[in-house]
Amino acid sequence: MYALTPRCHLSSLPRFSPACRVVTTSRPPPLPPPPAVSVATTSSSQFGGPADPSSLRSTWPHRAWVATGSATVIASLVKSVSVAAACGAAVEPLLGAVLGYLLADLGTGVYHWAIDNYGGPSTPVFGAQIEGFQGHHKYPYTITRREFANNLHALARAVTFTVPPIQFLISGDGSMAAAAHAFVGVCAGCIMLSQQFHAWAHEKKGRLPPAVAALQEAGVLVSRAEHAAHHRPPYNSNYCIVSGACNRALDESRVFEAMEMVVFFRFGVRPRSWSEPASERKEQTARIAGKD
Ligand SMILES: [Zn+2]
Ligand SMILES: [Zn+2]
Repeated sequence: MYALTPRCHLSSLPRFSPACRVVTTSRPPPLPPPPAVSVATTSSSQFGGPADPSSLRSTWPHRAWVATGSATVIASLVKSVSVAAACGAAVEPLLGAVLGYLLADLGTGVYHWAIDNYGGPSTPVFGAQIEGFQGHHKYPYTITRREFANNLHALARAVTFTVPPIQFLISGDGSMAAAAHAFVGVCAGCIMLSQQFHAWAHEKKGRLPPAVAALQEAGVLVSRAEHAAHHRPPYNSNYCIVSGACNRALDESRVFEAMEMVVFFRFGVRPRSWSEPASERKEQTARIAGKD
């Protein structure tokens, strides 16, 4: 048995990677002093940094995307209810909704793992989200001060473009069609709202609406305690941000570690969590001026 980098735990894999080094107990070289926090002119601060409260406000384009995304979700749910009512189905649409809820949790976990570990600000399509999540690791509390549409617009835009074609492909007027519409509506709705659930997981308990606190307590929404583990060393667990229901299975099965090894051995790309110093993930103490 040997120890690899903090993310290399798969003992069955061959020991020839130049990237996997034996962990020693010698003291690491001192880290350079952290750079001074700049004031709100970089794009990263727009997502995760502590400055410039104006970057946290919703704009009309943000609201428009959330409105169109919500419209597609509501259309799916209404269609499910109308088809179910017409054919007398109840169990199938409920099962579809539960599956959609679970898949949304799993999907946010996989997506969160991917953008936490791969790509960068210049990555096409996903660059802004990647940069945003890097900033979030340094300034997690900032998300609680982000306005609703500002926080949700990127996922709402994705929902706007993906849900209508899927709905178009669902045909029929029986119980399975009702289940499919319920699945799509609940899954897309939970994915779109996942950043709000994520924000609530960072909020102080006393500031949460009582219903949200109760849902977190019941495990319906990802709890503050569960998500806090994602922001603690070794920063490689609890990626799911809808309910957190899939976190334990994903983390205990080490599926993300296995996927990282596959990516590394197949493409030579190391995940950020293997090499990023803890200082890059450690929460900074700076707060938004006048907001805390
Ligand atoms: Zn993360
Ligand atoms: Zn977080």
